[in-house]
Amino acid sequence: MAESVVTLHEDGLALLDQVLLGLRAIDALPVADVYADAEGTPVANREGDHLTALRPSRWQRPDPATTAPVVVAVAGQLPVGALPTPDAILLLPAGGVRADDARFTAWAQAWRAVAGTVIEVPIPPAEAVERATALAAAYTSGELLTIGTVDAPTGDGRVVLFTGLSGSGKSTIARSLTARLAGERTVTLLDGDVVRTHLSKGLGFSREDRDTNVRRIGWVAAEVAKHGGVAICAPIAPYDETRRWVRALVEAAAGPGSMLLVWVSTPLEVCEGRDTKGLYARARAGQLTGFTGIDDPYESPIDADLVIDTNVVSVDDAVEQVLARLAGA
Ligand code: ADP
Repeated sequence: MAESVVTLHEDGLALLDQVLLGLRAIDALPVADVYADAEGTPVANREGDHLTALRPSRWQRPDPATTAPVVVAVAGQLPVGALPTPDAILLLPAGGVRADDARFTAWAQAWRAVAGTVIEVPIPPAEAVERATALAAAYTSGELLTIGTVDAPTGDGRVVLFTGLSGSGKSTIARSLTARLAGERTVTLLDGDVVRTHLSKGLGFSREDRDTNVRRIGWVAAEVAKHGGVAICAPIAPYDETRRWVRALVEAAAGPGSMLLVWVSTPLEVCEGRDTKGLYARARAGQLTGFTGIDDPYESPIDADLVIDTNVVSVDDAVEQVLARLAGA
């Protein structure tokens, strides 16, 4: 008899992951000999009630021999660090965000920075309360301390993070956007150069210092957004990982979708041609080292919500585009 193959799409693959982790009964899956993904690649074999995974799992397996107390928490629905620090946090993705979404991993990273052991669990948040006891028991023989679910933040706090080369137009657009929003919203402008003379005074341009600078900006911006304000930030923010960290922090504070990453993608030649601060000339002359775009990297975002090349878009149009995105258009 021919083998029966069932193709699983995203929801089905999520169920398969849960069954493989022992978090759900096998009856949740349609009966088949082989499960395949949408590309037709076999992902698991089934014999009766026994499943064999055919690819490595990214999820940490439950280990009931662990005795640590745990918290079951829904990422993105409560601020990072809002819970007492337990020995372990079982983190579920926020509503509307799939477990395989990069944002979930980024949230987990932000939580890890404050909470130590954070185990990502691919269970929908709607099931958090109902299944908390069973989840805790699957992962530990320790106590379930808290179930950390609060409603998604209802405020309309937002963060606009402009990223791009020096001279690309970040500050110019950010200032104009701030002026446009000033009558309607509580706006805080965190401009790159201004931040460096205050919040990040003393920091240089090594990878570590650049990261610290952007993380500080992100932290302040997340606080502003948490309280319903709009934070507009214009650092160079050359590193993908740091930008993702900021997004995770902001979304954990102000809800999924509360951060807009705007890549001001003006080409290097144009930025260098403008050279408003004379920095490119100094970098080319070797008087300034570690200058982004010349002898320091800029990682172009692949997760930008908006891309603006000021070589072809005017300041006013750029501001309109950002406003449209903020309004949800
Ligand atoms: P950054 O903050 O990215 O270093 P700035 O905003 O300080 O960049 O400098 C950009 C320069 O480019 C300014 O002198 C600005 O007047 C000029 N410029 C020309 N066209 C545009 C545009 N369409 N959008 C933004 N800036 C522009």
